[in-house]
Amino acid sequence: MPQDTIFSKIIRREAPADIVYQDELVTAFRDIHPQAPTHILIVPNKPIPTVNEVEPEDELMLGRLFTVAQRIARAEGIADSGYRLLVNCNRDGGQEVYHLHMHIVGGRPLGPMLQRG
Ligand code: AMP
Repeated sequence: MPQDTIFSKIIRREAPADIVYQDELVTAFRDIHPQAPTHILIVPNKPIPTVNEVEPEDELMLGRLFTVAQRIARAEGIADSGYRLLVNCNRDGGQEVYHLHMHIVGGRPLGPMLQRG
């Protein structure tokens, strides 16, 4: 079993979080250090550490990340203005929490995707 992270505790409601959506496959909650007016994390309930550990059997669950992102974007009023979906992997990707998750960030112009250099 992968190591338990803070996200597993949030999913099980053992740690506090502002949960905006939960179903049998995924949980979404507001990022504790928001980078934009909307910054929400969508997390599979299954504790997959990184994209590198994704299995073919996870495809349905990972597709759910996108349909929930779409639903959250509408609820947050950012579907038309636009938003960014991000998944970081390992050290160079800037991953901090080793429980796979998708960031949905929006509510302001986000600028270029990557810093130069
Ligand atoms: P990443 O760098 O992709 O692993 O992103 C991890 C994100 O989790 C960061 O944006 C953190 O601010 C966020 N985060 C860490 N702990 C919590 C928490 N307890 N509740 C909500 N967001 C958190």
